Amino acid sequence: MRIIDHRIAGHSGGAGGRQSDVFDPNTGEVQAKVNLGTQADLEAAIAKAQEVQPKWAATNPQRRSRVMFKFKQLLEDNMQELAELLASEHGKVVDDAKGDVQRGLEVIEFAAGIPHAQKGEYTYGAGPGIDVYSMRQPLGIGAGITPFNFPAMIPMWMFGMAIACGNAFILKPSERDPSVPNRLAELFLEAGAPEGLLQVVHGDKEMVDAILDHPAIAAVSFVGSSDIAHYVYNRGVAAGKRVQAMGGAKNHGIIMPDADMDQAVNDLIGAAYGSAGERCMALPVVVPVGEKTAEELRERLIKAVNALRPGVSTDPDAQYGPVVTAQHKQKIENWIQTGVDEGAELVIDGRGFKLQGHENGFFVGPSLFDHVTPEMESYKEEIFGPVLQMVRANSFEEALELPSKHQYGNGVAIFTRNGHAAREFAQRVNVGMVGINVPIPVPVSYHSFGGWKRSGFGDHDQYGMEGLRFWTKVKKVTQRWPDGGASGDSAFVIPTMG
Ligand code: NAD
Repeated sequence: MRIIDHRIAGHSGGAGGRQSDVFDPNTGEVQAKVNLGTQADLEAAIAKAQEVQPKWAATNPQRRSRVMFKFKQLLEDNMQELAELLASEHGKVVDDAKGDVQRGLEVIEFAAGIPHAQKGEYTYGAGPGIDVYSMRQPLGIGAGITPFNFPAMIPMWMFGMAIACGNAFILKPSERDPSVPNRLAELFLEAGAPEGLLQVVHGDKEMVDAILDHPAIAAVSFVGSSDIAHYVYNRGVAAGKRVQAMGGAKNHGIIMPDADMDQAVNDLIGAAYGSAGERCMALPVVVPVGEKTAEELRERLIKAVNALRPGVSTDPDAQYGPVVTAQHKQKIENWIQTGVDEGAELVIDGRGFKLQGHENGFFVGPSLFDHVTPEMESYKEEIFGPVLQMVRANSFEEALELPSKHQYGNGVAIFTRNGHAAREFAQRVNVGMVGINVPIPVPVSYHSFGGWKRSGFGDHDQYGMEGLRFWTKVKKVTQRWPDGGASGDSAFVIPTMG
């Protein structure tokens, strides 16, 4: 059996410790075992990070930037291999896996501009003979704890920005698809990064707790489900760290009566069922406004959903692959049953789907619900599978209220040809990321990513200038260079520049 070990400079997790199964979701077979790390493994990583970080922080920014340029090149050169490796553990189709790598690569591109981004502020002559300036200094050692669903993109959101800013970084990726993070660390070394700057420790709660409690780690970035995000946030902050913790989601797509229905249906199908619905920016809830819109949408969705073709990750004609584990498949099917029990209309039932030749794979067929209501548990909670729920609204105000009142506030989209309605919606909706005729509004790398309410705990979004702010602290310097003629008077009032 293949063993997936940590990537800690000069240290191995060895044999005999706790391990976790890594499945091939296409076949249902265990393809490897990953070592689950302990405090001792983390200590080894921290010792190395402490050795290397001060030197890296003192490396001038354009040299740091060159490592990012080279790393970006290596990601492009190895795109196919990375995507296939990713798909083999996650289950998403290979083209979608390339998107996972690409969206991380774009953050590396932004991070390559760090000499410009990390410049401080300067005021000449803030007072008589006095200048004030600020500089953004790295925090020291940062850590990232990432979910299974974007094993390339999300680690790169974090370590790209953290390391470019001068920090060392310890990544604790999901134990369900740990190989791509390891491969990224290898490529980062190949790009010229010193050993120990980016290290990968594998593990579960034991390792997460060790990270959260360790005094040498200054900041933790987390992405995963909301209960864990909240826990990580609380424990990390209690230990005196800076913490950002992104959680789950239940994104709504509002379909106004004047929407371009062809576009809306195409976009909805891709956003609801792509990657088997295992995206925090998936659109699992659709809200048609008015009965006429609902009836037309329902008819079109039925056709489109029936035409969907799940398949193995390597099948270029498959629209989506299996879900990540047998437990997750079970959880999705349980939620479908809950929806039925709660009185929603299950228009298309994807349970019990079997792919010929891959009967043990973790496949879930596409499901479609109509007449879902806000009181239902299956509406309130995240299903994270290929399930689209239709909640009918009578008016724009009613549609606006649904995502605004939902416990999650990650993303939302409105489909309309009415600029006024779109503008009003974007301004008023209580959600962090808004799409206008854009189903998956993940902002580009030079903006930033982050949801509201139970989708995001703590300050600062991921990447862009928000990422820079999270991974640096601001030092403010007030300087005076007297000409030598000291006045000799002491001042006992608070200094002003007046
Ligand atoms: P998860 O919460 O199970 O795991 C995330 C990380 O937390 C993993 O590294 C895991 O090892 C660790 N972890 C799991 N249980 C823990 C525990 N009890 N104590 C401490 N650490 C623990 O999430 P997942 O299933 O890997 O990912 C899917 C979830 O992530 C979904 O809820 C999805 O919406 C969310 N997500 C959110 C965003 C976002 O930006 N808001 C992006 C991607 C995914």
